[in-house]
Amino acid sequence: MIAKNVLDNPVTYLSNVGETRARLLRDGMGISTYADLLMQFPSKHIDRSRFYYTHELTSDMPYVQMRGQILSFEEEGFGRKRRIIGHFSDGHGIVDLVWFNGLQYVERSYKLLTEYVIFGKPTLFRDRFNITHPEIESAERFSRSGLGLRPYYSIPEKLQKRGINTRMMEQWVSTVFRVLHEPLPETLPEYLVRELRLMPRDEAIRAMHYPQSAEHLSRASFRLKFEELFFIQLNILRYSRERNRRYAGYKFTRVGELFNDFYYHHLPFPLTEAQKRVIREIHADMKSGRQMNRLLQGDVGSGKTLVALMSMLIALDNNYQACIMAPTEILAEQHLETFRQFLGDMPIRVELLTGMVKGKRRQAIFDGLLSGEVHILIGTHAVIEDNVQFRNLGLVVIDEQHRFGVAQRAKLWNKGQGVVPHVLVMTATPIPRTLAMTVYGDLDVSVIDELPPGRKPIQTIHHYENRLEDLYRGLRQQIDLGRQAYIVYPLIKESEKIDLKNLEEGYQQFCRAFPDLRISKVHGKMKSAEKDAEMERFVRGETQILMATTVIEVGVNVPNASVMVIENAERFGLAQLHQLRGRVGRGAEQSYCILVTGFKLASDTRRRIQIMCETNDGFEIAEEDMRLRGPGDLEGTQQSGIPFDLHIANLARDGQVVQLARDVAKRVLESDPQCDRPDHAMMWQTLRDLNKSNVDWSAIS
Ligand code: ADP
Ligand code: MG
Repeated sequence: MIAKNVLDNPVTYLSNVGETRARLLRDGMGISTYADLLMQFPSKHIDRSRFYYTHELTSDMPYVQMRGQILSFEEEGFGRKRRIIGHFSDGHGIVDLVWFNGLQYVERSYKLLTEYVIFGKPTLFRDRFNITHPEIESAERFSRSGLGLRPYYSIPEKLQKRGINTRMMEQWVSTVFRVLHEPLPETLPEYLVRELRLMPRDEAIRAMHYPQSAEHLSRASFRLKFEELFFIQLNILRYSRERNRRYAGYKFTRVGELFNDFYYHHLPFPLTEAQKRVIREIHADMKSGRQMNRLLQGDVGSGKTLVALMSMLIALDNNYQACIMAPTEILAEQHLETFRQFLGDMPIRVELLTGMVKGKRRQAIFDGLLSGEVHILIGTHAVIEDNVQFRNLGLVVIDEQHRFGVAQRAKLWNKGQGVVPHVLVMTATPIPRTLAMTVYGDLDVSVIDELPPGRKPIQTIHHYENRLEDLYRGLRQQIDLGRQAYIVYPLIKESEKIDLKNLEEGYQQFCRAFPDLRISKVHGKMKSAEKDAEMERFVRGETQILMATTVIEVGVNVPNASVMVIENAERFGLAQLHQLRGRVGRGAEQSYCILVTGFKLASDTRRRIQIMCETNDGFEIAEEDMRLRGPGDLEGTQQSGIPFDLHIANLARDGQVVQLARDVAKRVLESDPQCDRPDHAMMWQTLRDLNKSNVDWSAIS
């Protein structure tokens, strides 16, 4: 029986795939059907247009292809060393083919004095070249599959151990192509293929396996990358259009008393141009009648908090409430402090809601929120609990969004009265543009790309761990000038004990080196009240040095701190290093970041340290981070998730294709607002298929 579409055939229809192999393919490579096989592209191609002769072989050749006959078989060794050797001659000399297992299979499969094409890596052993576990094909069959670039499929080791190899994959793929009597369906509208000079999908997929040339291959891969990114963009943009229709937003037309009073009478310094621009962008969103969904990116210290506060004042001027969510209690408290300082005697009631606020005080806040007497709520996760009800919540600000999961954000939708409040997501982890466009394609992005004036760029210095004396001297100098310092130790879950021990030892060491100073110590194992108290002491300037595991990573603001020492800096990622460094350089003084590492550094690590020493620009660092690690690992992306898996496109390398895909997707949507153009039918169908197994991305993020 044949499935309606050959492409839907299960792989078990292939002659040499039984239940076992089918299971291996499914679990190990995600391959269940013929279509899946075709979409499993080779990891590289090997030039098989050339045959080598025995006398040309050298031991540093990666792979060679030869043509000849097996003259005889011979068994050698005993037990586990037992092997079979085929003496292979190409007419110019002898090469030994060696097998360590499947001995019977070898003798059964290969005939003596028959033309074969062999392929493998030559090694020199006792004056003779041998090739272990060569790939062998009959010369006749070889000439059918052709010369030129031949596919090489990466097979997971587990499958290789069970006898599945690249040659077998190639056979299956070519069988599928053989039984396929129609071209693979085109998924993009014909006019696009023509206009963009894309390779048709059928040709592209064939060429991915069997390209005629390197150029042919690169055109094929461009076509498929484009397709992949195009559907992601189409998906995102279509959703955001739907949302525009579905989610009307509160219309905040007034910039009134509170905003102006603050701007003209309370603001202690002029806004930067970037802050002004971003506030204008936010205001434009909030008065548009559509719900705002904006991502505000700004390097650490760029003044996002103030932008948040002023956006909230616009909500208040329109008689709505606002709330800001911070990832930790310390940060929430700091926001409270900052807001109260900024607002001074303005008639605005700001309250703090964290897990620590209990009993009567908690109830009083709940009452105030419901009656509308509380204008601004600052809090942690506590604010998204179901029992927190507002009279009319108009704006939600989420600070340092990467600490909040998608699901938590989704809960916010329920806080408005039928209408979804405006949402401003702030992040200090700059996300490279290509990634932002892919992951947050439906969020509008504002960027504060300017630091408040008077900041001196932080100087970053790399120290090897044996140069302690220099480090102490530098620290002493700064502290004598009245400044404070952070010393940070990495914290990695699996080795928490060791990390605590490091912190403990470091603490003893610093106490000995600076007996006259007061040193705070903070780590994740402390009770949060204890932690806060210790942190408080540092914030108030009672202690000069704060030694901590990465619990201080996010947000604390101590402008007097001018030194950040990061111990074992090799164990931090770039984004984290940059975040930590951002804790200093907040005052007008010259600040320093000291990265302490061991001597032996992997080349990636060396590169990270080098970048940190070269630049303070968070965006540059984020781009580099993505290049080093690939986007999957970037902070901020895990929870957001890319709607479909990327098989072939690479966000770090294919930025231009992302841009093109986005522009084209926009144009396509504009030309087909009802999604019903007949020449788009296949495209919409493809999108529906892709979406089948996915969550409803429209309602979250
Ligand atoms: P972020 O949250 O973006 O890391 P903050 O909002 O904490 O940065 O701002 C860092 C510091 O800069 C704060 O002390 C803030 O008061 C100050 N600041 C913000 N905007 C300005 C400005 N326009 N001019 C001078 N200082 C500013
Ligand atoms: Mg901040």
